[in-house]
Amino acid sequence: MEYPEENTKKPQTGGSNYGLSEATGDKSILAASTRVTASHVPNKRWHHDHWQRTLSWLRQRLSNCAELLPSHCLLCHTRSRAQIICPACSSDLPPLPAPHCPQCLENTTFGERCGRCLAHPPFFDGVFAAYAYDFPVDKLIHSFKYGQQLALSGWFAAQLTRLLRPWHREYDWNRIMPVPLHRERLRERGFNQTLEIARPLAKALAIPCDSRGLSRIRGGAPQASLPLQERLRHLHGAFSCRQDYRQQRVLLLDDVLTSGSTTSECARVLKLHGAESVHVAVIARALRH
Ligand SMILES: [Zn+2]
Ligand SMILES: [Zn+2]
Repeated sequence: MEYPEENTKKPQTGGSNYGLSEATGDKSILAASTRVTASHVPNKRWHHDHWQRTLSWLRQRLSNCAELLPSHCLLCHTRSRAQIICPACSSDLPPLPAPHCPQCLENTTFGERCGRCLAHPPFFDGVFAAYAYDFPVDKLIHSFKYGQQLALSGWFAAQLTRLLRPWHREYDWNRIMPVPLHRERLRERGFNQTLEIARPLAKALAIPCDSRGLSRIRGGAPQASLPLQERLRHLHGAFSCRQDYRQQRVLLLDDVLTSGSTTSECARVLKLHGAESVHVAVIARALRH
């Protein structure tokens, strides 16, 4: 079976983190795992990751097959062979208003930095968004995220590829990282929606997809209504990083950017581990209007 990206290797025995969640810090597990040889049965985590990759591979193949069949546009229901959103609906999707803050894309009068970025500068270097988070993009993202329209992953990746290709020539990203889900959320949902987009996007831009370097070790989304500082406090320590990111120019991928607190916390952790730059790409930016 050939997977669409590089992440198909079994963990190496004796590796620094084989079988050990950084969160548990359980030395006995580490000691046991370092003794495992290639002939032993891989651990539970490997089975889980392998199963996730297999499901993702099947989803990708099924959505590729679906694209070959005559279908109807998800928005206007007219016949649109091989396209999940027809060209007319696609050109009507809500664009980002201009001018906007150069760091977070919030709408500003003259394109100056917004008050929030001045008061609490985010740790990421910039944001790219394909659309504003308005109708019907919000509906599309919702139906993708909750599993009704998984075939949208390829379409979202294609829109982001078109947006990001010229910028990739400028920023020369050397890895794409999806914002990770906490394992409980992953279990509930069955897939990480961001990873499903990251894989075809990475393939199209020829950048390695890194879905393991960053993990979410504390779940529970902070209330969207909380002030930014409260959200940041809640997220502090929610992510863990296992690798050295020196000289890495990371493109961090998420579905929607609202306050930017989650992606900023990921960027903070990656920069603590040496990342040279962290840009954020999202399908849609939710604006405060
Ligand atoms: Zn349409
Ligand atoms: Zn801003």
